Amino acid sequence: MRDSTVANSPGSHQKSPSHHKDKSPVSLSKLSPKDGQSDTARLANKFEEGQDVLARWSDGLFYLGTIEKINKQKHNCLVVFEDQSKSWVLWKDIQTGDSGEEMLCTICQNESSEPPNEMVICDKCGQGYHQLCHTPIIDSSVIASDDKWLCRQCVFATTTKRGGARKKGPNAKALQEMKQSLPYTLDELEWDQGHKTNTQQCYCYCGGPGDWYLKMLQCNRCKQWFHEACIQCFERPMLNGDRFYLFVCSVCSSGPEYLKRLPLKWVDVAHLSLYNLSVIHKKKYFDSELELISYINENWDGLQLGELADTPKSERYDRILEALNNNPAMFISGKEIKKKKHLFGLRIRFPPSPHSSETPSDKEQETASQEIKIKGRKSNKPSHSPNHGAWGSWTVGTGDQTIDDCPKVIFPHSLFFFHAQSPLLLNHLLSGYRHSVA
Ligand SMILES: [Zn+2]
Ligand SMILES: [Zn+2]
Ligand SMILES: [Zn+2]
Ligand SMILES: [Zn+2]
Repeated sequence: MRDSTVANSPGSHQKSPSHHKDKSPVSLSKLSPKDGQSDTARLANKFEEGQDVLARWSDGLFYLGTIEKINKQKHNCLVVFEDQSKSWVLWKDIQTGDSGEEMLCTICQNESSEPPNEMVICDKCGQGYHQLCHTPIIDSSVIASDDKWLCRQCVFATTTKRGGARKKGPNAKALQEMKQSLPYTLDELEWDQGHKTNTQQCYCYCGGPGDWYLKMLQCNRCKQWFHEACIQCFERPMLNGDRFYLFVCSVCSSGPEYLKRLPLKWVDVAHLSLYNLSVIHKKKYFDSELELISYINENWDGLQLGELADTPKSERYDRILEALNNNPAMFISGKEIKKKKHLFGLRIRFPPSPHSSETPSDKEQETASQEIKIKGRKSNKPSHSPNHGAWGSWTVGTGDQTIDDCPKVIFPHSLFFFHAQSPLLLNHLLSGYRHSVA
């Protein structure tokens, strides 16, 4: 018998009252598209048109949206976001609320609950997970315990944020532990030649979509790409396309991440800054004196320039101008297109590549033959925490940072928790935060 009240009774995670200590060493690859017809049908049942959902964007964060269409063949849904932008989102990146009636496992959509694979209910979202379906596998001690248990999605939703995931607090610790296992099989991903994109659109600890050329880091060992929002070791927020780091993920380190800043030369500073300016302002040419050097000065600490960091302000412009003029293959000057000579742009919009890799052998020979196209993105961040399955409480905009690629958007300097009966309230509060980068 199903007990639908367990989701609301604090400290109770189990569907049936038996306590078992068995732990079965079963590992499943939950995201592999090996589903048979019936699995597809079952998974599709999770979604309906008009349903409010949370969809994971390429920055690793969840955004509120409404399902407009469901494509059973491609395993995705057309989601309309609050800013009215639309995007096809894979099922793996959509979180639905609790249906409230049947307690089905969120992963496999089955309702069975037998030891050693009982249904465990998240104390935050009220969704059910089989012990063996969840990543990592839920130990039977969780069932026996009165402590609160949060599912992987809720741990991520409460800790990931722009500028880097939370480092402190009980959920931050849970995140650190969950990050040591992935909710997908890394070996099954099909990568492009440069190992930057995969056909499954599956990256990071979260398994969400991603844009390697924005705020993501590649693990030096496993070569997977990780979102800034999911990484916990940043001291400063990332710049777009900043690959001047040596990074080892928590899976590879079996513990905390490793991060080391790599040195930048002046040409890298100019390249990285022009790249970021072009991402932010959606244009190609920037006045070296008015725009470029002001950007560099404003982000001087964020650029983490090591030895160059001591350069007095008065000398920086000459160094940058020198780098711009000495690298005509990389930078295009305004005079080439009969514009002002102190205008500069990137000949091809592509993020800079670090010169000195710790392991030069695997440093790919990268040719920036293709201009990076940057798709629209959502700037309003309802980093969610659905409560009791009915979108009860939400966390909105963590607020301690200016969104550096949305210069006009500054979130309030406090963390809001509020209870909304309807997502409309959220819509209202977040309206006007639209920003897209073409
Ligand atoms: Zn299951
Ligand atoms: Zn949950
Ligand atoms: Zn992520
Ligand atoms: Zn790794």
